[in-house]
Amino acid sequence: MKIIVHRGTHQIGGSCIELATENTRIILDIGQELPSIDETEFQNKSQLPQVKGLYNGGEKAIDALFISHYHGDHVGLIGNVHPDVPIYIGEKAAKILNMTAQFTGSKACVSPAGYLVSGQEIKVGDFSIVPYLVDHSAFDAYAFVIYAENKCIVYTGDIREHGKKKLSTYFFRQKLPKEIDALLIEGTMMGRTTEVIETEEQIEQKAYDFMVSRKDRPIFVIQSSANIDRLVGMYRATKRSGRIFVMDIFTANIVSQVGGRIPNPYTFKDVRVFYPFHLTRRMFKEPDGKELMKQFSQHLISRKELGERKDYCMLVRDTMLSDLQHINNLEGAGIIYSMWSGYLKTERLERMMNYAAKMNMEIIHLHTSGHAGIKTLQNIAKSCSPERIIPIHTEYPERFIDKFANVVIVNDNEAIFI
Ligand SMILES: [Zn+2]
Ligand SMILES: [Zn+2]
Repeated sequence: MKIIVHRGTHQIGGSCIELATENTRIILDIGQELPSIDETEFQNKSQLPQVKGLYNGGEKAIDALFISHYHGDHVGLIGNVHPDVPIYIGEKAAKILNMTAQFTGSKACVSPAGYLVSGQEIKVGDFSIVPYLVDHSAFDAYAFVIYAENKCIVYTGDIREHGKKKLSTYFFRQKLPKEIDALLIEGTMMGRTTEVIETEEQIEQKAYDFMVSRKDRPIFVIQSSANIDRLVGMYRATKRSGRIFVMDIFTANIVSQVGGRIPNPYTFKDVRVFYPFHLTRRMFKEPDGKELMKQFSQHLISRKELGERKDYCMLVRDTMLSDLQHINNLEGAGIIYSMWSGYLKTERLERMMNYAAKMNMEIIHLHTSGHAGIKTLQNIAKSCSPERIIPIHTEYPERFIDKFANVVIVNDNEAIFI
């Protein structure tokens, strides 16, 4: 079997891996480089990886494309894929991706040939692919165990074990094959080895403590709308502290794709919906936008009502500054910044934070990575005991050499035969 990492051997994001036998070629992920401000948006330009037969306009020569999860650095370039290439992705992941595309106008949307179901094998030519649900900051994310020509490859996708308890150890409890020829393992955190990794539960507890400490003030949370684990934690902290939970109309549409048990305005009485001014105006002009906007209108909370109450926690995004500026009584409110700190350097977030400072808001930073620290990565390697470990999705592949056995460092587009 041939393995080509088209992109991701020396960078985080833009992932694209090809596995090939003589008769069959499959691709794992088609990511965009440089994640954007919010991982649900895909506004950055990115070169297409050099994969012959994958794209629109040429002759199709790829038998299937498997998407591990909906983050832009794994799926952002999917709009360029030849329409005859069958695509496999988790069902809820596809729904979230497509809903995001409707709101952002992104081309990253899918019409899958089939859905990934944890533990259920999919056959494509010489290949047999078994997806396993993993813990990551994207909902409905998968690792893959792949068989062909009596060889076996494991691709972790993006993975961690410090998220919601039930899921965090699920992958590690699977009986993986005894002989694994190659482990393609993500190494995002190899550049941040000193970072203390908190669990999602710890983040939730800290959010709760903060909400209690500012009892008579509104709380705002800046987080990605597609980080469902975080959203659930924030909702639980909100509920425990006796507040109502407010999400914007985009987030309401996203969470309603996921299912009834995730906090959403339909089935949770204490969840209300805010309609940001610019987004609302734009969406009402879109052909299908009106319906998406109207479906939550009975759960609407107005700026006026927000200005009159203090017992709420509201999710906000960097595009909502002008909305905040039109809500009364925000002096001294609390802000939980719950994303990667690098995004704070962007102009829109900078402006939002300046406004918060001007309004004497107290800002705290509560975030934990979507990626595994070294210990977890070592656990994965141990449970696979692979013939070779190929680091990907990392800026520091060489740092694996000291900490893991059988490491093979490869370059983008280099073919390895196993
Ligand atoms: Zn990634
Ligand atoms: Zn990811």
